[in-house]
Amino acid sequence: MKTIIEPFKIKSVEPIYFTTIEERKQILENAFYNPFLIAAQHVLIDLLTDSGTSAMSSNQWAGIMKGDESYAGSSSFMHFEQTVKQLTGMPFIIPTHQGRASEKILFSCLDCKDKYVVSNTLFDTTRANIEFAGATGVDLLCAEGKQCLIPAPFKGNMDVDALQSFIKEKTSSAIAMVIMTITNNSGGGQPVSMQNIREVSAICKRNGIPFFIDACRFAENSFFIKLREEGYANVSVDEIAREIFTYADGCTMSAKKDAFANIGGFLAMHDPALAEKCRNLLIIAEGFPTYGGLAGRDLEAIAVGLKEVTDESYLRYRVKSIEYLFNKLKDAAIPVMQPSGGHAVYLDAKAFLPHIPVEQYPGQALVCALYLEGGIRSVEIGSLMFGKYDEDGRLIPNTMELVRLAIPRRVYTQSHIDYVAEVIIALFQKRNNIEGLRIVEEAPILRHFTAKLEPVPVINTNIKNNIKTSNLITV
Ligand SMILES: *Cc1c(COP(=O)(O)O)cnc(C)c1O
Repeated sequence: MKTIIEPFKIKSVEPIYFTTIEERKQILENAFYNPFLIAAQHVLIDLLTDSGTSAMSSNQWAGIMKGDESYAGSSSFMHFEQTVKQLTGMPFIIPTHQGRASEKILFSCLDCKDKYVVSNTLFDTTRANIEFAGATGVDLLCAEGKQCLIPAPFKGNMDVDALQSFIKEKTSSAIAMVIMTITNNSGGGQPVSMQNIREVSAICKRNGIPFFIDACRFAENSFFIKLREEGYANVSVDEIAREIFTYADGCTMSAKKDAFANIGGFLAMHDPALAEKCRNLLIIAEGFPTYGGLAGRDLEAIAVGLKEVTDESYLRYRVKSIEYLFNKLKDAAIPVMQPSGGHAVYLDAKAFLPHIPVEQYPGQALVCALYLEGGIRSVEIGSLMFGKYDEDGRLIPNTMELVRLAIPRRVYTQSHIDYVAEVIIALFQKRNNIEGLRIVEEAPILRHFTAKLEPVPVINTNIKNNIKTSNLITV
């Protein structure tokens, strides 16, 4: 088979900066072992996130110039609204400055206090917004999804039986919403099958529970359906995406993912009463309903991006280039989540660093080691991000300790990715030298963004009493 090449050529470049190991050692210490606190200029290959980091196309840049900055009723809004309506089939389209703003507005307007919001796996900002609104987020991921090292085609699926038992146990009036994350970001970028979406939607309908989709990576998910689900091989990604949305009452979207935009998002829905409530809050928090916290040029870039992202030569390159990194690591016996996901490769930090107990955050330790070794920035998705404390202040760990290597869209070439693989393989050979970490300062919500840590040379049980809690809330 021939090499799958980038389906684009490069018109504009930006430099990246090299540092030495000695410099990175100091930088890491200054950043309190939290790469969110490292200046981007000190990062060589930035795999922190695929969010807002895409390279825009020449057509999107042309859209930026065409952006209509009228306060009300701009033509860029019309273009944006028309595009989102066509994709989702939903009549009420509310632009927001990013995904979490959609979530904040949705869960503030939904009657969800003291109720449950059920998901395959909630993303961290979604969970935080649900909890901030006084509701409880519940993840009902299918059994395959919890087996990091065992491949299956749709590991992002919701456990349909668990959903039915949960509704029976709690009653449908206690469940404010079911929201399906496609692809399942926190669960490894694993896709959800059309069949699962259809089944969950039907259960919600029967029980009168609103069903929403967190659609950040709808195009990557749709392409996996085309590749892996029976009956979809000859259906276009465009049609698959539109079918997904027919099963939902609404969706939230971060345009920083599958719309190739650097900022933006939206809420879309069928319910006019909920839409009106959301618009009222939008005006207070984000802006007038025809721009919602975005410039006209952003709306234009999103509209163009949403049309580009379902291009199948792009999606094939996208999925295959992630699989390329995944295969290199797997062939070197490095523990990676299987199969490779839609936007990232996930290292299993528990298996990579078996000598570091979960109380010492093996995922974060690996994130720091990757930076030190090769200037690569990644993110922990484990007990630093999702851990809680019990009444005695002991850590209740997350089920998985992962390190996500998120690949920005259309940004890095194959040689960048070869370098990333070389660094990880080199690190794997000396993994026994990597030390665990302990938290010295943390915020009460979304602590991973701002937490300060320090290395732990010896075993420590990490009792919360030793930790200073700052008042920083990063929602
Ligand atoms: C990024 C993301 C969000 C939040 O979007 P932002 O634009 O970062 O606020 C919500 N859900 C999922 C699945 C995401 O990946």
